[in-house]
Amino acid sequence: MKTIDLRSDTVTLPPPEMRKAIAEAKLGDDVFRDDPTVNRLEEMAAEVMGKEAALFTTSGTQSNLTAMLSHCQRGSEVILGDESHIVHYEVGGAFALGGLGLRTVPNDEQGRLDLAQARHTIRSRDVHFPVTSLICVENTHNRCGGTVLSEDDLAAVRALADEHDLPVHLDGARLLNAALALGVPASQLAQYADSVAFSLCKGLACPVGSVLCGGGEFIRRARQFRKMLGGGMRQAGIIAAAGVYALESMVDRLADDHENARVLSDGLSSVPGVALAPAPQSNIVFFTVEGWDQGELERRLGAQGVLCLSEGDGRIRMVTHCGIDDGDVEQAVAIVRSLVAAGA
Ligand SMILES: *Cc1c(COP(=O)(O)O)cnc(C)c1O
Repeated sequence: MKTIDLRSDTVTLPPPEMRKAIAEAKLGDDVFRDDPTVNRLEEMAAEVMGKEAALFTTSGTQSNLTAMLSHCQRGSEVILGDESHIVHYEVGGAFALGGLGLRTVPNDEQGRLDLAQARHTIRSRDVHFPVTSLICVENTHNRCGGTVLSEDDLAAVRALADEHDLPVHLDGARLLNAALALGVPASQLAQYADSVAFSLCKGLACPVGSVLCGGGEFIRRARQFRKMLGGGMRQAGIIAAAGVYALESMVDRLADDHENARVLSDGLSSVPGVALAPAPQSNIVFFTVEGWDQGELERRLGAQGVLCLSEGDGRIRMVTHCGIDDGDVEQAVAIVRSLVAAGA
């Protein structure tokens, strides 16, 4: 029985051509800036995002924390959505290691920030108040269902930030998926942010890594904070080579993942009792099944070779990626259908 692993696009394994690029990578000591493959990846990433410079990091979590440390002073506050990845899944690094306050405002079902609330949360200058130092947005929005923020949504955040002279950080772990969904270059979305982080180890199928992009002075600061966080990696070209390959060869195929997510969600929504929450906009599908405990459903699907994640709030998550083809999608739907028909 083939396992159909729909838990996340982080389960992707490097394809053979990527492994070849890894094996043949030219290397040097990146802490001395001598690794040509890392330098190449950083140049390519900066160009894709339309920024001056870039920094290869170990993970999206390290990129986001490095960005926050580089933008903010200890004791200041970051405004971000209450469903954001930084709030839920990054171990509280911003407050534990950065001394930052995370001030959340509601995300709507599309993953947008409540801008009226955000405006209200920005501190005025007063001897009693902490300082507001940053606004963070996320695109695509993971917990909201891989939802896509439009250019207008991002421009509105930028305008608010500009009114208060604040920087904007874009957690764009899946920004290339957002760009694909909107049919615009990623740089067109990144232009509304001072810094942007995107993942190599998700849909792009690299074994490790993320890239933080921004202005030259910002990236110089970020490079020092990355070192502080233990992210000064020596012959890192061995993993950066995967990123170079991915930016050349894995971006266009993300369209297959979006198409498979659409077919998956169409199939699932034809199963009695299944409701999409919401309809997918990228490669992430969330759904609920009436009358089922989601943990039980996750376990029973797993026993039949279909791996998914239960979110703990009634929703099941399935994510499409390069390890999933249309036959897998068809089979996953058939297994959900027969399980649900048999009853909880
Ligand atoms: C996955 C993800 C991250 C963090 O990436 P890691 O590489 O797992 O640390 C950050 N933000 C969002 C929106 C993500 O989906």
